[in-house]
Amino acid sequence: MAIQRTFSIIKPDATKRNLTGAINAKIEAAGLRVVAQKRIRMTRDNAETFYGVHRERPFFGELVAFMISEPVVVQVLEGEDAIVKYREVMGATDPAEAADGTIRKEFALSKGENSVHGSDAPETAAEEIAYFFAGMEIVG
Ligand code: ATP
Ligand code: MG
Repeated sequence: MAIQRTFSIIKPDATKRNLTGAINAKIEAAGLRVVAQKRIRMTRDNAETFYGVHRERPFFGELVAFMISEPVVVQVLEGEDAIVKYREVMGATDPAEAADGTIRKEFALSKGENSVHGSDAPETAAEEIAYFFAGMEIVG
């Protein structure tokens, strides 16, 4: 499997509890490298665009309000099979269903406030990275 890049967000519930370093430790322990990272405050427009695929879902308003409630840390992660690997390290969307040792099992508060986002496919990874980072900000 080739070296890949994926897009990650450390979400507001985690930045608020000062867990950026603890989450990065899990990412690095899994063999993924943080090749770009910045702390930002998402705008409503950013959040609505980013989660646009969920626009019709009942939790959309709550999800957007959550994502703009506190700063987030956006990241590009690089490594072997990074997209699938990071989804494994994150764990299931609902922390009650997440496997032991995963980020969401250890840190997430609920299905909504679940500490991290990770891209789900190569196409979305490329789109999400390009939305948040300029090429020169990514240093592998
Ligand atoms: P993400 O896209 O953030 O990596 P995911 O792919 O595991 O998460 P999705 O189904 O894409 O899950 O949902 C996007 C996000 O919307 C979830 O991570 C969570 O924050 C929120 N969400 C999903 N389902 C619910 C729900 N039933 N109630 C509240 N929030 C939800
Ligand atoms: Mg998703």
